Amino acid sequence: MHALIPLLVTISLPSVLSLSLYVDTSCSSKKGWSDYYSETQNFAKRASVRMSSSSDTDFKNVFKRIFKVEPGSSEAFNNVVGILKAVADLTATSDLKNSDIRLFCDNDKRWTQIQGGYHDPTTEMVERDTPSCQRQPSALGRTYSRKSKPPQNPNDPRAGHNPNRISVSICDLTFARPSKDGEPAWLKDDLVKPDLQNTFLDTFDDMISVTILHELVHAVSYSPAESKVIILDVPTKESAYGWENVFAKSAEDSLKNAENYMYTGLWAVLADMGYTLPRIKESDDQIVKNALEERAKEGWLYHYADGTKRALEVVARRFIS
Ligand SMILES: [Zn+2]
Repeated sequence: MHALIPLLVTISLPSVLSLSLYVDTSCSSKKGWSDYYSETQNFAKRASVRMSSSSDTDFKNVFKRIFKVEPGSSEAFNNVVGILKAVADLTATSDLKNSDIRLFCDNDKRWTQIQGGYHDPTTEMVERDTPSCQRQPSALGRTYSRKSKPPQNPNDPRAGHNPNRISVSICDLTFARPSKDGEPAWLKDDLVKPDLQNTFLDTFDDMISVTILHELVHAVSYSPAESKVIILDVPTKESAYGWENVFAKSAEDSLKNAENYMYTGLWAVLADMGYTLPRIKESDDQIVKNALEERAKEGWLYHYADGTKRALEVVARRFIS
């Protein structure tokens, strides 16, 4: 029961400035890396641009379905734009020690086991639990954050490291989910043909770029003041992922759940390709409303290139007959 708990539909996020990103060679040496990473940034960029557009009512509706709050100028809406913009605006740096976020594709091999935990000598971070890529079963990715006080001794290996550093791992499991041609999928070449009409959103879950986006949403939500990442996987790991879970979440959980932001980015680029959630009109017959609502929940892609009315009439016939 939530009745006794004040319902907070806003989250307290740091005012995100431009954050720097160090990309380790374990990522940049992967075949196709720059394509996967630009796709990630494009998801974030297109979402923040679409949300900031006053005329993009269709995407505002997608936002509303994902976050269950009214689009516009609410704090919650601005927070979502801010997070996606922060991912889009990450600036590359080769300065590991000063970087805010460090991205690795080493399957967490940089961590070595020490008494009572694990130590990463590359970023000088310590974790108690087994690194996520090394667990059985492996995660797809993981964002590590732990506030670290700058050491007094300048010869300490931790000296000079950004005290608010975040490290992100994209696990081998993410790179091991090939599309039909044997390479990991990305939208531009692999998934646009011949037609995505009536495709499920799940089709895109295996893309490397969506996992990178999911992790970077965690990473940019780090609050130095609170020494923690604000956007997590909520309410539990089991129910955080996948469109149906995202669609079913309360406003409070949606705003705190990385996967909701990831799907916002994905929908923004699908919108560029002409696809969106099924549109439900007040005047629709209830049987049509129910059917379209079910399809929205299941994540069906709808193409409305010839306008709304005709497409809905076709659907109506399909369900009424
Ligand atoms: Zn996560």
